[in-house]
Amino acid sequence: MGGHCDTDDSPASFVKNPTIKFTKLFINGEFIDSISGKTFETIDPRTMETIARIAEGDKEDVDLAVKAALQAFDHGPWPRLPGSERARIMMKFADLIDENVEELASLDTIDAGKLFTMGKAVDIPHASSTLRYYAGAADKIHGEVLKMSREFHGYTLLEPIGVVGHIIPWNFPTTMFLLKISPALAAGCTMVVKPAEQTPLSALYYAHLAKLAGIPDGVLNVVTGFGPTAGAAISSHMDIDAVSFTGSPEIGRKVMQAAAASNLKVVSLELGGKSPLIIFDDVDVDMAAELAIFGILHNKGEICVASSRVYVQEGIYDELVKKLVEKAKAWVVGDPFDPKVQQGPQVDKKQFEKILSYIEHGKREGATLLTGGKPLGGKGYYIEPTIFSEVKEEMLIAKDEIFGPVMALAKFKTMEEAIERANSTRYGLAAGILTKDINVANTVSRSIRAGTIWINCYFAFDNDCPFGGYKMSGFGRDLGLEALHKYLQVKSVVTPLYNTPWL
Ligand code: NAD
Repeated sequence: MGGHCDTDDSPASFVKNPTIKFTKLFINGEFIDSISGKTFETIDPRTMETIARIAEGDKEDVDLAVKAALQAFDHGPWPRLPGSERARIMMKFADLIDENVEELASLDTIDAGKLFTMGKAVDIPHASSTLRYYAGAADKIHGEVLKMSREFHGYTLLEPIGVVGHIIPWNFPTTMFLLKISPALAAGCTMVVKPAEQTPLSALYYAHLAKLAGIPDGVLNVVTGFGPTAGAAISSHMDIDAVSFTGSPEIGRKVMQAAAASNLKVVSLELGGKSPLIIFDDVDVDMAAELAIFGILHNKGEICVASSRVYVQEGIYDELVKKLVEKAKAWVVGDPFDPKVQQGPQVDKKQFEKILSYIEHGKREGATLLTGGKPLGGKGYYIEPTIFSEVKEEMLIAKDEIFGPVMALAKFKTMEEAIERANSTRYGLAAGILTKDINVANTVSRSIRAGTIWINCYFAFDNDCPFGGYKMSGFGRDLGLEALHKYLQVKSVVTPLYNTPWL
């Protein structure tokens, strides 16, 4: 089953055992203990052992961080700098990330169980490219001259929204951190970031690099800690002007409630998904199987856009299923530092148990378990790549986001049926369509209610491609210039054109 691999043809031991340099809160340009003095453990999911103890911030620490951010916004240089100067500093920050790529990739591997090679070659270079993308936009932020109906001169100014709170999940610690802070930095905002409690290590390292790059004190603060304390203190804070949240719908709802009950801050939510991949008869079956497997097993299925529901047209169903099972069985699970490994451990015990319990549900509900379904290896949170067929929309494994290596497979006859079944979900984050028929691709892409549609590809993210959800997958967009506008306010300025009396 999904062969467990444990060879040692992998990075040098100093990379595999990085020194943990930063464990404290980063507030106003300094690493400091939490006011309470409390700390929490961050665990290595490969060994289930403690990597380090991290400062546990709560409400008082968030207050301190917000005070620093507010001071930096009201009186510091960052919002007032020419955009080109903010861009120069952000470019320097990006260069520093690239220079430290191995150490950063290593931190995400030990903290989140992510593949080291993926972090080094993809996640971290993409994250620095996100900073550069928004650095490129920092000196192009401007309003417009308005066509007024009377004799007035009217124009808009785009101003930074103020102090921003970013609350992020654990599945992409690097991507999430940079995807949130980069547009906010370009806009001239100051901010407080709360990384997920499971994966605080790289966030603190990024704070250190931001300081080295010259980002002024107070502009970027990182408060590590738990959701109900530090996270809730951000969403309910009276001096935070906007909160950008990525995580589960349950917590997204709490963030929105807290924002409504406090200062009505602007909220954007990037929530979960149950994304369909629709495979039509006319495709190359081997390539389709490859893509479908990658769509669910990439990052051990801990990815909000995972193609967790795969709909296959009846003409190629049997052949495709056979290939999917072969590929799932050959998928290599093991130590994420090993370059031959394709899937590391799930992030923590809670996630591991949650996935296994969904697998049990699937069996009880009558879906057919084609392969996988069990934990793998004696130690660490490893799970076999798992495929269920005969999955019906009303089953829990088709409705809920499992966030693990579990595919729900179903057969369809017509395009209309595929559209209807793909849309029969409360989520709307992404969808994939595989077909050679342009008419089918166009019809289906316009009919699926989701924020991103990939045609004949999957996970094709780009800095310029806005990303976010329809329906219960949230609202607001990360990436693209859309995300920059999330952190900007529009101010209208109006003055009489001629020396007219006040009207
Ligand atoms: P989660 O919602 O439990 O936690 C996300 C963040 O919210 C963490 O930092 C957590 O500490 C914080 N939090 C928890 N309780 C809080 C509270 N009461 N107030 C404020 N903050 C609080 O999600 P998770 O388990 O960490 O991540 C998995 C979920 O995230 C999945 O549902 C997944 O789909 C979603 N996700 C979505 C995207 C996207 O872009 N749409 C990306 C990655 C993950």
